[in-house]
Amino acid sequence: MSLPVGGMTPLSTVDWPDRLSAVIFLRGCAWRCQYCHNQDLQRREGSTHRWLEILAFLGSRRGLLDGVVFSGGEPTLHPGLAEAMAEVRAMGFSTALHTGGDRPERLAALLRAGLVDWVGFDLKAPLADYDALTGSPGSGERAYRSLRTLVSSGVPYELRTTVRRDLLPLPRLLALAREVAVCGAGNLVLQAYRDAEQQLEPQAPSTLREAARQMGSLLGPVGVRAA
Ligand code: SF4
Repeated sequence: MSLPVGGMTPLSTVDWPDRLSAVIFLRGCAWRCQYCHNQDLQRREGSTHRWLEILAFLGSRRGLLDGVVFSGGEPTLHPGLAEAMAEVRAMGFSTALHTGGDRPERLAALLRAGLVDWVGFDLKAPLADYDALTGSPGSGERAYRSLRTLVSSGVPYELRTTVRRDLLPLPRLLALAREVAVCGAGNLVLQAYRDAEQQLEPQAPSTLREAARQMGSLLGPVGVRAA
């Protein structure tokens, strides 16, 4: 099985809320989001870890970790993802997926097969703004198709939207909230954009809290991560 593992975080408390997890980062992403901090992982080429070494590490963490998160890049690009998840589950771990929803059919197959216990879904913008933000024609249509599939699967999830104010001012966030509501989705968290030096935009926490308050009237509680 070929799976381009570009990196791993051996222990995380934040990538899967309320779980102790290892995070496996798979190389490759077809999108070019204007704020991407994982540009090295956009390319499929580059240094990789052998899958057998990852499995050996996970074997040494049985009983210490709750689960394993598959992240990226965009992990659903890889045909070997299902087999990898099945292997990890056979070792006794729960599995989670970080995705932007670029491959709706593959996401649907993973969910149908019962290979995913939780999804962190990176929802970037209202549909009309998607392709400009990702630089990928059709990305919005695929992302919203994936979102509807996720909602109808019944698998627990969190929607995360990174807010850079020039890309997602308040009126566009309210448009996003309306589209999420139409999909029957919720559990949305706004994440403050950080620049290359990890600095927040000025007034980001208060701006996001106000946006979350207004979006909440359409969606129910909306979270904020801006600390
Ligand atoms: S989807 Fe994620 S990895 Fe891909 S370009 Fe956008 S931010 Fe980067």
